[in-house]
Amino acid sequence: MSQQTPTILVTGGAGYIGSHAVLALQQSGYNVLVLDNLVYGHRDLIENTLKTELIVGDTSDRSLLDKIFASRSIDAVMHFAAYAYVGESVSDPAKYYRNNVLGTLSLLEAMLAANVKNFVFSSTCATYGVPTTVPIPEDHPQSPINPYGMTKLMVEHILQDFQVAYDFKSVIFRYFNAAGADPEGRLGEDHNPETHLIPLVLQTAMGIRPCIKVFGTDYPTEDGTCVRDYIHVYDLASAHVLGIDYLLKGGDSTIFNLGNGSGFSVKQVIDTARQVTGKDIAVEECDRRPGDPPALVGSGEKARRILGWNPQYADLEKIIAHAWAWHQSRHG
Ligand code: UDP
Repeated sequence: MSQQTPTILVTGGAGYIGSHAVLALQQSGYNVLVLDNLVYGHRDLIENTLKTELIVGDTSDRSLLDKIFASRSIDAVMHFAAYAYVGESVSDPAKYYRNNVLGTLSLLEAMLAANVKNFVFSSTCATYGVPTTVPIPEDHPQSPINPYGMTKLMVEHILQDFQVAYDFKSVIFRYFNAAGADPEGRLGEDHNPETHLIPLVLQTAMGIRPCIKVFGTDYPTEDGTCVRDYIHVYDLASAHVLGIDYLLKGGDSTIFNLGNGSGFSVKQVIDTARQVTGKDIAVEECDRRPGDPPALVGSGEKARRILGWNPQYADLEKIIAHAWAWHQSRHG
């Protein structure tokens, strides 16, 4: 590690979780360089809000990566750049394996060539598949039921093999459902197309959509709708900074779930959004969406214990309130 302020390369830093992580890194005093192909990311977030250097390009562009690593001293990489639509991964798996697996392998090989061996990886609870115990511990068997989860699991295996062969260090975060927005309103969730529950519910509350579709009412859960553990993006971002701190202090490769340990059904999310927004939110009950497990809830206990992670916004109302403030400022 260099003696000066460490520099972190953040791939996918112009996306939803990546941009919040860039802000958290900046606030912790790190230099940040963003690599994003801007397929889903937002240039204005980097240039106008975060005001940090943006390199537009792809993780599969090995010559670009070699130039980036040759031209500056990078201490660690935080890797968010990936496609993350579960439904699309079922209908177009080739796109997911190419980008999420081959793109990551290209990045890892460029890192090895440049002797940069600290890596924070965005993995997912989708690697577990249908869990047999809830809350899910980190050593729960992994058996993804959609290609998106499989791509992330494949990278986890690559990282484990790289640790053994090359002494390559990684912190893998398996997150549950990222939600909410920067509490100070600077950043938020802005996917196009939007497929995630909370933004779609809030767009319905704003009148941008006529109703929210509930995908499946016959799951083996209390009210028949899917249960998820919603985790504030601010808390996810702060865990990533702790992961970097840990690696730069010489920590060993390890894996953490990032969840709050409590699940909410789709119907509970919609009811909470009705309370937060004060709006009627019309619902249409539909068939299940392929690739969705009934319930995913994870404990963040290991991250609390080892990283000292201390989530600030574990409460669903707060998560939705921050997302609502962001949506109103963007679309109001
Ligand atoms: N969901 C829904 N209607 C929507 C979008 C999502 O009922 O319009 C459900 C989805 O089936 C899942 C939960 O909401 O059970 C969370 O989905 P999301 O896409 O937000 O996140 P994921 O769990 O896929 O990461």
